[in-house]
Amino acid sequence: MKILVPVKRVVDYNVKIRVNADGSGVDLANVQMSMNPFDEISVEAAVRLKEAGKAEEIIVVSIGPAKAEETLRTALAMGADRAILIETDGVVEPLAVAKMLKAVADIEKPGLVIVGKQAIDDDSNQTGQMLAALMGAAQATFASKIELDGDILKVSREVDGGLQSIEVKLPAVVTTDLRLNEPRYASLPNIMKAKKKPLEKKSQSDFNVDLTPRLKVLKTEEPGGRKAGIKVKSVAELVEKLKTEAGVL
Ligand code: AMP
Repeated sequence: MKILVPVKRVVDYNVKIRVNADGSGVDLANVQMSMNPFDEISVEAAVRLKEAGKAEEIIVVSIGPAKAEETLRTALAMGADRAILIETDGVVEPLAVAKMLKAVADIEKPGLVIVGKQAIDDDSNQTGQMLAALMGAAQATFASKIELDGDILKVSREVDGGLQSIEVKLPAVVTTDLRLNEPRYASLPNIMKAKKKPLEKKSQSDFNVDLTPRLKVLKTEEPGGRKAGIKVKSVAELVEKLKTEAGVL
């Protein structure tokens, strides 16, 4: 069985992001970029299935600028076998991403597609669900544990107040939650080996997908700063302030 894992190049989660002066978006100049953290979890999940003898090949795919090749190389160093870069020159919204992934899935015919539950730059949480619909495949979202038994995938999902266990039949699309696993670091020898693994380059024009944005960002704002705290002298004063100032009692 093949596993397809989409990986997105996003601003590194450790970076303190700056909003453009005109509020049109986030300043990406000279900013450290990395693999979307949920996609690292997806790659790790795929590698573990392969190590357990339950998958033969892991194909990673990224839709983005030429530099997304670095992200794909990281995934190859973690254990993926082959990479596909679909070069695009602007923002590609989740529906267009899902349509391109569907085109790749039509060619590769994966039994399982492991998608991050959300990209930390747009926080859309749309791609996996739309891809499952386009593929006509089963979907299991927000997986915190997966177990493959033949063509049945058992998935635990964190829901309000507990865990839900479900089963889906392959082919399926799974979206990964934070607690699914702890992704491995790519070792230096594996980083070197990854340079020789196959990476196929395609262009957005190879796909008959309408990339016209359907969404317009009106404004981007930084979160407001936190107000300084105060010290109270007694419990009575605390209760009074909670009632009159904070309005929480
Ligand atoms: P989103 O729906 O944008 O929050 O993204 C959810 C997931 O879809 C990500 O974690 C990736 O697995 C996948 N994805 C989104 N955009 C891309 C992209 N440009 N290239 C590859 N995978 C993507």
